[in-house]
Amino acid sequence: MTTSLSQRLQAELTGLKDSGLLIHPRVLDQANRARTSVDGQQVVNLASNNYLGFADHPALKEKAEAYLRQWGAGAGAVRTIAGTLRIHEDFEEQLAQFKHTGSALVLQSGFTTNQGVLGTLLKDGDLVVSDELNHASIIDGLRLAKATKKVFKHADMQDLERVLQENDTDGLKLVVTDGVFSMDGDIAHLDRIVTIARRYGAVTYVDDAHGSGVLGEAGRGTVHHFGFDHADDVIQVGTLSKAWGVVGGYAAGHHDLRQLLINRARPYLFSTAQPPAVVGALSAALELVQSDPSFMERLWDNTRFFKAELHTLGFDIMGSQTPITPVLFGETETAFEASRQLFREGIFAVGLGFPTVPRGQARIRNIVTAEHTREDLEKALAAYGKVGKALGTI
Ligand SMILES: *Cc1c(COP(=O)(O)O)cnc(C)c1O
Repeated sequence: MTTSLSQRLQAELTGLKDSGLLIHPRVLDQANRARTSVDGQQVVNLASNNYLGFADHPALKEKAEAYLRQWGAGAGAVRTIAGTLRIHEDFEEQLAQFKHTGSALVLQSGFTTNQGVLGTLLKDGDLVVSDELNHASIIDGLRLAKATKKVFKHADMQDLERVLQENDTDGLKLVVTDGVFSMDGDIAHLDRIVTIARRYGAVTYVDDAHGSGVLGEAGRGTVHHFGFDHADDVIQVGTLSKAWGVVGGYAAGHHDLRQLLINRARPYLFSTAQPPAVVGALSAALELVQSDPSFMERLWDNTRFFKAELHTLGFDIMGSQTPITPVLFGETETAFEASRQLFREGIFAVGLGFPTVPRGQARIRNIVTAEHTREDLEKALAAYGKVGKALGTI
């Protein structure tokens, strides 16, 4: 007998519920700021990706409003038909200058950027080598590619070299890595990755979602941090939704890459351009981070303080090097319980368990932002101390 829709939905939901994976997202009652209200309670927010505090920044909202008034609520079409407004082109020029890449193309999100770029670039006979901890959007992007796909052990350079050695091809070779890994907060060893990739004639592809606006001068990103921003054999993609506070994705690199993507990337060809208000807000974000170094300074001051104090309390922060600060609890249920207890203490921090992270490594992922005050972080640390002791973690 044919499966009915309700049978399918119930079977799927029951499966999720039984394995403890059914999600009920908490709801913010106010804008996403360092202090906000979640499910009716005032909290210190350690759960966002709002690194620079731009999501609700007046400068972004002002330029968004100006672009909205002048250019309209929507772009009106996909980019290739009639949706490319002057402000789209100007913003891409601004972004390319910021990234030192010669050109940049903006897509609807970081997720679609990986699909668009990997799906366009890779062909039958090519080789793509991907870090095992790469983001889901890279994994999905690679599903669209006909190339031979191989995975190397996380941040393991010997394993990367082994895979390149064992899988020679006349086609294009691409080594794909996150710039900053989203669950552990470690930085990719780009210096070594690019060197090894070059030894085998491979191009390096960096998804810098968590590095852009966080690492490098004025937040130029992980590729700039390692000095490869002018390199034509390093492709940078990323998101405009984390540190940049709004939404969108980009691919930055050689002019010919942009030209090819305009002609072939399916999200560019078949999905509508970003609305003007988004472009305005993003343009203001790039201006702000370059004119005012205090955002980056506060982000890193807060990061160093919070990490050091958690360490002193006795928590395992898993070697993270960036504002992403995991706190290890071990079992999924412990991490989820810690998150609930922290919430009762007025701290919003989300627990992550298997399959998002490996079994036995359930954690709470905190992201420190430029907007947190010392007082916010001290409140969070006091709560962590209390909860960690109650659960026997410290
Ligand atoms: C968040 C993230 C994305 C997705 O970006 P969106 O703009 O939110 O779609 C892609 N890659 C990595 C590594 C990410 O962390």
